[in-house]
Amino acid sequence: MDVAFIGLGRMGAPMALRLVGAGHRVRGHDLVARELRGVVWAPSAADAAAGANAVVLMLPTSADVHWVAVENGVLEAMDARATLIDMSSSEPMATRELAEAAGARGIDLVDAPVSGGVPRATDGTLTIMAGGREAAVERVRPLLEAMGSRVLRVGPVGAGHALKALNNLLSATHLLATCEAVAIGRRFGLDPKVMVDVINTSSGASVSTAVKFPSYILSASFDSGFGLGLMVKDVGIAVDLGEELGIPAALAEQTLELWREAAAGLPADADHTEIARWVDARY
Ligand code: NAD
Repeated sequence: MDVAFIGLGRMGAPMALRLVGAGHRVRGHDLVARELRGVVWAPSAADAAAGANAVVLMLPTSADVHWVAVENGVLEAMDARATLIDMSSSEPMATRELAEAAGARGIDLVDAPVSGGVPRATDGTLTIMAGGREAAVERVRPLLEAMGSRVLRVGPVGAGHALKALNNLLSATHLLATCEAVAIGRRFGLDPKVMVDVINTSSGASVSTAVKFPSYILSASFDSGFGLGLMVKDVGIAVDLGEELGIPAALAEQTLELWREAAAGLPADADHTEIARWVDARY
């Protein structure tokens, strides 16, 4: 297929390379010029989109998606039979609105956010949760399967983005809870490495103890490739969604408040795993 890929950042670059590796012809664009083997650089997002069968967006926020798709001329440049795929972690209500604008031009929108981070984007084993019309998801399934090993249609348009935000709410909550538990244990005299090792075969285990603590926190590398600001954005989307639906989520709101405090106390480009440094500095 002819694919346009807009947003060649930490996630977008390895994902675009997976598409090239699967034999698709990829034209790419980003605000920052990037050279990627096999990806043909386009001078603008609209240039990349013109004539493509599918346009993939992997941008930071819904505001960026709206800007690129609507104000920057991507929808206008797209062929009416093409599919717009927003793989960013966007806001589900904004996604529904964008789907209407796309639909008015005869373009299907599929929201297909991902979980797995940079390592799984690189080896093509992301979990991809797709929302959209069944026929639209099936049309772009070969592209999604080049980037992910688990591609699931989870509902109509917006459903993928809702599920992704709720997943990250859980991820942010258990990472923060694990940081607090480890800080208390350390003060008591426990070795954090021993704690994490034991928790990993106990009922407190999670991706935070299985992957994030050993790989990025206990090693002090803090280089997961997922920015803390993006995690705050995702928790905010989940809390907003709850509010819009009339679900008071007290723990989620507390989680958001603490992550926001951490963002204010850490450098703007901090990795999300640096929340552990922020928790330690509080005690
Ligand atoms: P990133 O900041 O590394 O990359 C975003 C890219 O978008 C940058 O290269 C930026 O220059 C580009 N960009 C921004 N505005 C643009 C515009 N108007 N036109 C063209 N390019 C533009 O972010 P990332 O870590 O790759 O995350 C992208 C999305 O994926 C986010 O929504 C994030 O929440 C989500 N996500 C990230 C991870 C992760 O581990 N990093 C995992 C799952 C989901």
